[in-house]
Amino acid sequence: MIRVNAWNTYDEGQQKSCMDLAEDYKEFLSSCKTERECVDRFVNEAEANGYRELNEVRREGGKLKAGDRVYSVWMNKSMVLFEIGKAPFEDGINIVGAHIDSPRLDVKQNPLYEDSDIAYLDTHYYGGIKKYQYVTIPLAIHGVIVKKNGETVILRVGEDEDDPVFFISDLLIHLSQEQMKKPAASVIEGEALDLIVGSKPIRLEENDKDQKEENGGKEAVKKALLGILKEYYGIDEEDFVSAELEVVPAGKARDAGFDRSMILGYGHDDRSCAYPSFRAQMEAHDLDRTSCTLLVDKEEIGSVGATGMQSRFFENALAEVMELCGQYSELSLRRTLANSCMLSSDVSAAFDPSYAAAFEKKNAAFMGMGLAFNKFTGARGKSGSNDANAEYIAHLRQIFEEEKICTQTAELGKVDVGGGGTIAYILALYGMNVIDCGVPVLSMHSPWEAISKADLYAAFCGYKAFFQKASFKNM
Ligand code: MN
Ligand code: MN
Repeated sequence: MIRVNAWNTYDEGQQKSCMDLAEDYKEFLSSCKTERECVDRFVNEAEANGYRELNEVRREGGKLKAGDRVYSVWMNKSMVLFEIGKAPFEDGINIVGAHIDSPRLDVKQNPLYEDSDIAYLDTHYYGGIKKYQYVTIPLAIHGVIVKKNGETVILRVGEDEDDPVFFISDLLIHLSQEQMKKPAASVIEGEALDLIVGSKPIRLEENDKDQKEENGGKEAVKKALLGILKEYYGIDEEDFVSAELEVVPAGKARDAGFDRSMILGYGHDDRSCAYPSFRAQMEAHDLDRTSCTLLVDKEEIGSVGATGMQSRFFENALAEVMELCGQYSELSLRRTLANSCMLSSDVSAAFDPSYAAAFEKKNAAFMGMGLAFNKFTGARGKSGSNDANAEYIAHLRQIFEEEKICTQTAELGKVDVGGGGTIAYILALYGMNVIDCGVPVLSMHSPWEAISKADLYAAFCGYKAFFQKASFKNM
């Protein structure tokens, strides 16, 4: 099979569009490191592009027709966007679905403690990480604390130039003889991922001397920190109970390589697919079939919960949209879903020459060689995968060839080496055609992952072509 380096396929105009898209993406990736931040950004941009909030349209007694654009957000962490097409819903719609959660450390619900005059926030990791990658790097805290009165305090510390950052310590090499003998999976234990957040005790006044002697300045650093949290954010220790705070690598996404061909950043999985999916949704117009972009939470932990793909929120939103178009019935909804086409826009593992033994080179995705299609994911004997239908793949091949999109096929490593999944199999439960299709990533799930700008651009062009041309029907 012929593989082409995507850079060689771009003319001057496309090279420029590719680099421009990368600039926008880097800004997005640097600003949006949590699902909530992604949803906020996408809602603002969608509204600027003429999208209206679905429930508002409904409450105002509005109707929807071809060309109208609506979105719906679920619990501030997942969202779905639609541009109504000319064809009836029952003929199927074209869906691109990405996830906007990424592996990270979540702050526990009772996190704050002090040991040896150092204050810590205890964490619980989220998604698949190599725990040892999270020590000794600058970390930021992003998230929300919701107080009992319903007030939401937004926290984002560690990203601005003069912000403090946080970190997790590692044992010095001089004393690591024992540690270095441990297997990588346990060299840093999950419970050792405690974030250092302060070391300065509260200052006791002269007249507090008695108190000082009485409790020996007990937890004086923690007390000082609680004072800071109260002063800056108006929160008490108990408020951590109703907080969602995410510890992520601090700092911006950067160009990588002398040739600036790549981007090093946190959260390419799966924002390098979510971003071009969203942009394609914004830019594909005058559509025959309704276009739909799904940006969901919780993929990294199995698509569970009310904001994960297994939740009914997407189906409910689609039902509401069909109702507003005068096309809803239970049966019509089922026909719509069964006739729809979907690209599960999620990243692929890029072949890594330094770890060649983990890959089967004929069937691996390569960085810079375009949008990667995974007919199936899963583990061992394709267990847990959505194995896309050959007829559907043929339909897509035709579209991507016509539109000169640089594509490649991929498999997640050698057959017996490991595995993984995406949201693909969940949409396939409706009987619709689904295939995984995304950007190859180097060092996936590490604090700083890498992608090629050429692949990001191929993803954007590919998703747009899909919205404009996919028309495969099952019945
Ligand atoms: Mn993913
Ligand atoms: Mn992942």
